[in-house]
Amino acid sequence: MASIFSRIVSGAIPAAKVYEDEQTLAFLDINPAARGHTLVICKEELPDLLSLAPEQVAAVARATQVVARAIVAALQPDGFNIVQNNGEAAGQTVHHYHVHIIPRWRGDRVLSPWRPGSATADELHAIAAQIIAQL
Ligand code: 5GP
Repeated sequence: MASIFSRIVSGAIPAAKVYEDEQTLAFLDINPAARGHTLVICKEELPDLLSLAPEQVAAVARATQVVARAIVAALQPDGFNIVQNNGEAAGQTVHHYHVHIIPRWRGDRVLSPWRPGSATADELHAIAAQIIAQL
């Protein structure tokens, strides 16, 4: 069964499309967190960031910048968030890679920022070493 986003790519279900190129498609989120909330997807049905080829990562990043620029020009938000969820624990509900562009207006409170935690320098360096060992 094709994902809901693959069905938008194929035209089987409608969407308010704003941008398309060979590898990406952008359309408005059906349940917008804010006016102009837009999704930029990789047309190929791949579940998450780690599944994409580097060229696909670059294509989605490029399209995200193109669309964000147009959103800012059209809607004149005070700022915008780029959100990209990977895995259910991170809030991903559609397992077809996509980036959210969420326009923001001062005081709108549509997204809660994370709660800043704390770590010692030794803890940070130990985690950095674990990550570096996998690069
Ligand atoms: P996720 O939680 O996976 O990062 O985000 C999935 C997003 O897709 C949600 O914000 C949801 O509102 C949006 N969405 C789900 N189904 C549809 C649909 O059929 N059409 C559109 N335009 N957006 C959808």
